[in-house]
Amino acid sequence: MRMAALACAVLCVGLAGAQPVYTNSDVSSMKARYVPRVAPKLPARYPSEFDSRPREKPKYVPWMLPYQEWTEEYRAYFQRHAHDPKVELQPTLICMHYTVTDDAQAVWNGFHRGCYMSNGNKGSIFGHVSTHLIIDKDGTVYQLLPFNRRCTGAYGVNHKAISIEMIATTEPDLLSRAQQVWSSFCVVRDLMKRYNIGPQSVIAHYEVSQGVSVVPDYLDYNDPDCPDRYPAKYFRSDPGPTYMSWLRSYLQKFPPQ
Ligand SMILES: [Zn+2]
Repeated sequence: MRMAALACAVLCVGLAGAQPVYTNSDVSSMKARYVPRVAPKLPARYPSEFDSRPREKPKYVPWMLPYQEWTEEYRAYFQRHAHDPKVELQPTLICMHYTVTDDAQAVWNGFHRGCYMSNGNKGSIFGHVSTHLIIDKDGTVYQLLPFNRRCTGAYGVNHKAISIEMIATTEPDLLSRAQQVWSSFCVVRDLMKRYNIGPQSVIAHYEVSQGVSVVPDYLDYNDPDCPDRYPAKYFRSDPGPTYMSWLRSYLQKFPPQ
């Protein structure tokens, strides 16, 4: 968020054009006056009561997208991005997200409706974004696609990853709901066990956006201008480093058995 605000401020200066004319020292003094919003202090560790909670087998409530209708679209998508038009998935990664919006129904509707999405360095293309799961604010886990079907939630890893959305507007918003965070921990443990996925393969969307240097499985043949990471304008911040640190420390303490 802070980056966006700063980028906007710089852009507005750039657009000011002839009137008024800003000098470098004007810009420097504006930057000096710019007070970044102080990030709320988040607890370094997940709630301690999680340590004594009985670990639960998650319930996956079906809320399926009409993915069969999108088969040809997805074949073309995976041909473009991975040179592999399969729609079947053998999951080896788990990618965590939050939605930025506040309403599971609105997210599902958006997936269902489709949208114009980035098409590498070739402009945009209409298609249907999807994730396998949505974890709602009360911790309910909805399943939108079968786990053996590729989704399009995080380009770069969609050929390998199960994508999990959590309904939240920001990272502090997400971390304020213990039941939802707990539910996500139970889901990740369950899927790690089911697909024999190690903790190093549980990743964040913001890590995927940084590309191969952080996520070696990253693959995108669709953008020759930026083949190994997201272009800067598409960088992601979800679900945030504190959430990932909570999740990873929990998984380290309670590895799936
Ligand atoms: Zn995401």
